[in-house]
Amino acid sequence: MALPFKATPMKRMLLAALILVARMGTAFATETPAPQKTIGINPSYRNLSVEAGDDFEEYANGGWRKSVEIPADRSSIGAGFEVYERAEKRTADLIRETAAGNPQPDTPQGMIATYYAALMDAANIEKRGLDPLKDKLDEIEQIASKAELSRVLGERMRADVDPLDATAMWTENLFGLWVTQALSEPDRTVPYLLQGGLGMPDREYYLSESSEMAKLRSVYQTYVAELLKVAHMKDPAGAAERIMALEKKIAAAHVDRVISQDVHRANNPVTVADLKSNAPGLDWQAYLTAAGLEKESMFVIWQPRAIKGLSALVASEPLEMWKQWLVFHTISLYAGYLPQAYYDLRFGFYDKTLKGTPKQLERWKRAVAALNADLGDAFGKVYVARYFPPSSKAEVQELVRNLVTAFDHRIDAVSWMTTATKAQAKTKLKSLRVGVGYPERFRDYAGLVIRRDDPLGNTCRAREWEYHHQCARLGRSVDREEWWMTPQTVDAINLPLQNALNFPAAILDLFNPKADAAANYASIGAIIGHEISHSFDNSGAEFNFQGKLANWWTPDDAAHFKAVGQQLVKQFNSYEPSPGLHVNGKQTLNENIADVAGLATAYDAYKLSLGGKELPVVEELTGDQRFFLAFAQTWRQKIRGAALRSQIITNEHAPSRERAQTVRNIDPWYEAYAVKPGQKLYLKPEERVRIW
Ligand SMILES: [Zn+2]
Repeated sequence: MALPFKATPMKRMLLAALILVARMGTAFATETPAPQKTIGINPSYRNLSVEAGDDFEEYANGGWRKSVEIPADRSSIGAGFEVYERAEKRTADLIRETAAGNPQPDTPQGMIATYYAALMDAANIEKRGLDPLKDKLDEIEQIASKAELSRVLGERMRADVDPLDATAMWTENLFGLWVTQALSEPDRTVPYLLQGGLGMPDREYYLSESSEMAKLRSVYQTYVAELLKVAHMKDPAGAAERIMALEKKIAAAHVDRVISQDVHRANNPVTVADLKSNAPGLDWQAYLTAAGLEKESMFVIWQPRAIKGLSALVASEPLEMWKQWLVFHTISLYAGYLPQAYYDLRFGFYDKTLKGTPKQLERWKRAVAALNADLGDAFGKVYVARYFPPSSKAEVQELVRNLVTAFDHRIDAVSWMTTATKAQAKTKLKSLRVGVGYPERFRDYAGLVIRRDDPLGNTCRAREWEYHHQCARLGRSVDREEWWMTPQTVDAINLPLQNALNFPAAILDLFNPKADAAANYASIGAIIGHEISHSFDNSGAEFNFQGKLANWWTPDDAAHFKAVGQQLVKQFNSYEPSPGLHVNGKQTLNENIADVAGLATAYDAYKLSLGGKELPVVEELTGDQRFFLAFAQTWRQKIRGAALRSQIITNEHAPSRERAQTVRNIDPWYEAYAVKPGQKLYLKPEERVRIW
C-alpha cells in the first residue's frame, strides 16, 4: 500500500516495508575524509555515550539518527532508503534516456517511454477526469442480480497476492489469486485463492477496540465519503457508512495473520464442486468463468473459513451495498491515475494517516514506481545491461559460495539435529538455486497495449496482462527458474516451492568492492545468509528439496527447534518500540530466526574468506568490531511513529532497531565488545538463541 500509484502490494514490489534493504558502502566515503582505506562502515554514526552492551543499535546509529531528518515525502529514512533512492534515480535517468532515443512504440523500449510519458502528462489526466473508469463504473451500475455481481467480482480478480514468497496477503478485490505449484504435488501448477476485500490493511483495523483503531476507522470512513463525493456519487456519507458496515463484516470473516502464515492450514485443495457446496453464496460458476478459471479442476483455498464467510456475504448483504463497495474500491484502487483531487484523498488516508508521511512524492517518482510494477521485466533488462556487469555478478557469486559453504559447515556442527535430518538438509542445500542479479528469461509483454493518452488504461491492461501471464502457467509444467522480483527491486526473496532465492541487481548494489570483508559480509552477506536460512528454518523445514510440502525433520528435531524458537519469541515480545505496543514475537518468529542464522553464517563466511588471517585494526576498531558495527549500521533507520505502529501490527519483520539487536545472540559479539553480565543486552550463554 505504500506504492504511490498501485493500491495493491504486488509481489514484485515489496518496498512497502523496505524489509531487507541495507547499507550502501560508497555512501560513506564523503563522511570520512581521506581515510587510510575504505572500511565500509561509518564510525561517526555512533553514539559513544551509550555502552555497546546496553543498546548496540543506539551505540551504532544514535549519532546518525540525531543528525538526519526524514524527508517530508517519506515515512522513514535509513540505509535501505539510500540504496532505494539510488536505484530510483538510476531508473528515472534510464527511462528518460530510453525515451530520448525515440524507440518504436511496440518495442519494450517504446512501451517504457510511452508508459512513463502518459503518467507524466498531468494535464491530460486532469482533462479526462473520471472518464477512464467510465466502462467499469457503468458495468457496476448495471448489475441487477447476485449472479451479475459474481461475474463482475470475478472479472476484477488479479494475480496480486503471494502468501509464501512475498507474504503479500492484502487485496482490495474480494479474493486474490496466486499461481504456483501445488503444495503437495510439486509438478503441478495450480490456482490459490486468498481472502480480500478490505480497504484498510488488516482485520485488526476493523475489529480492535483500541482508541487508535477506532480513530482510524472514522478517518477511513471519511476518506470513503470524500472520494465518492469528488466522484459525484449520490449520498456519499450514507454510502460510506454502508461500505464501512460491509467491510466490518468482511473483516469478521477474515482469519488473522498468524493463521494466514500457517501453511498447513492453507493446504486445502478443492474442486469447483467442493467450492459450490462448502462455500455457498457467491455464484461460483459466474465468478470463475469471468476470472477465466472455469476449466480448472483444482483450487487451493488458503483460508477456508474466510472464503466461506466472504462467499456467504455475497448472498446475505444487499446488492446495493455491494455495488457501492465496488464503486468505491474501483475509484480508490486507481486514484493515483486520476486527477489530483482523487490522489490527494488517497494519499491523505494511506500515506498521511496510516504512515504519517506529510508530503506526496513528486510525480516522476510515482511514475517510476508504477512503471516498475507494470513493466518491471521490460525495464529490468535495460537496467541490468547498464548497472550490473558480469564482474559484479561473479563477485557476488563468490560471496554466495562462501556463505553456502559456511552454512554447510554449520549443518555439520549442530548437535541437536539427527544424522538423517542433516543428510536431508545437505541435499536441500545442494539443490538450492541462488539467482543472482536477474532471471535467465525476461517477460516480453507481447500483446500489451500501452497508449500515450491513457495512463489509467495502461495500468489496467498491464495488471490484466500479468494476470493472464500467471493464468497461462496453469496446467503447464513448473518453471523452477521463474523470478518473483524485478532486477531493479531493492529487496531479496526466498521461494520455498522452487527451493530458490532471488537477489535482484539493485540490492546487490550493497556489495562494495572497495570495502573490506568485515563490512561486505555483515551487510549483503548477512542478507544472503538470512535468505539461505529461510530454507532451513521452521517454514523451510516444511518444504523438501523439490519444494514439496513434506516436513523433513524428525519429531525430535522439530521439538528442539520449537523450544529454541520460544526463546526468541520471548526475546522479541519484550521489546516495546512504540509506547504500549510490543513486537509480536510469534508473528515475527520466522524472520527473527533468519536474522540470527544469517548473521551467524555471515560471520563464519567472513572468517572463511580471510583464510585464517585477521583484518588490521582501523580507526581503533578490530575486524570483528567492524563486522558487528556494519551489521547494525545496515539496519539504521529513522521512522515516523505511525509507520512504525503499522509495521509492528502488519509486518512479519520486527522493526529495524530490534533487528539490529540480533547481535546479542552471537558469542563473538560479546568478545568483540567486552559485553558483561548486568548490561541490558547481555544474555547468559544458555539464553542466546543458537539454531544453526
Ligand atoms: Zn526473511
